[in-house]
Amino acid sequence: MKDLCISFAKQIYEETGRFPTQKDWKVKFGYPCNVLKIPELFGTWAELRRSCGIELDRGMISSSDDMLLWIQQHCSVDQNGCWNWFRGNNKYGKIVWQGKWYGVHRISFILAKGEIQTGLVIRHKCHNKRCCNPEHLETGSQRENRLDSIGHIKSASANIIHHKKNMTNEELIEWLESITRKYNQCWEYPIVGSEGYAKIYLKTKYYLLHRYVCSIFRNIDYESKWVARHICSNKCCVNPEHIVPGTNRDNGIDSREHSRKTKLNRQIVIDIKNDWIITDLPPMKFYTKWSTLAKVSNDAVRNVIYGKRWSDIQP
Ligand SMILES: [Zn+2]
Ligand SMILES: [Zn+2]
Repeated sequence: MKDLCISFAKQIYEETGRFPTQKDWKVKFGYPCNVLKIPELFGTWAELRRSCGIELDRGMISSSDDMLLWIQQHCSVDQNGCWNWFRGNNKYGKIVWQGKWYGVHRISFILAKGEIQTGLVIRHKCHNKRCCNPEHLETGSQRENRLDSIGHIKSASANIIHHKKNMTNEELIEWLESITRKYNQCWEYPIVGSEGYAKIYLKTKYYLLHRYVCSIFRNIDYESKWVARHICSNKCCVNPEHIVPGTNRDNGIDSREHSRKTKLNRQIVIDIKNDWIITDLPPMKFYTKWSTLAKVSNDAVRNVIYGKRWSDIQP
């Protein structure tokens, strides 16, 4: 049974240049084996791949030595020295390594500093969840971790309360500049709530920080009826220049505009795919190059390369 699977996988690979997908197992020969049996027979899909001697896809990791470098290449390093995992939108990045899912920051810590003791969690000293720089990571207990972020919220709110009286626009900007992480042109507040917006505790209630900033900066009553729109489409951004007041309807138009802007066409997709074959650039640089050229997001470029979009177009 194992041999049959391997020879089938090899055959598909020779015909199509890619490893078979679930769909391929159903083609002309029918099932060489029950697809669900593959994890049982091989342990993981990655293991099957290895058994076939098929070279790992570009972007997949072959040895632990390359791993840390690979992670760094897939991050954008900002001025705080944080390695920002490019897929993460203030969530922990996850990758498959040796057939298992791991948090990227976890892998990065293990590679640089060794195993994590049972019961301990990884803490971001930089309060940047997206960061995978092992130098910014340390282990601690769950409790310490929670106290960490509470302490951070407290000091942040203490700061804004301290400044709140008679705060001028300049002071507000200065404070935000000192406490936010810069990502592209955006100022990202380090702590966001479950909806992805930064929140801040003032007096006796929580405020949405971007709305709060906009209300002060544009001189609008926080409580009145309006919507704070992110013109950068980055929810956790609090750069006052990226937030404008509008109506609910405007907000809908914003998100449609955003998706319209990130549309690629066939020719560009072909160019990207061809370039990817011959490029020497590391992935992050490659994404940036094409996102600039095609005026789309890095994610859009990445989706093209990894076949999440436009998979029907061959280079
Ligand atoms: Zn960091
Ligand atoms: Zn922004």
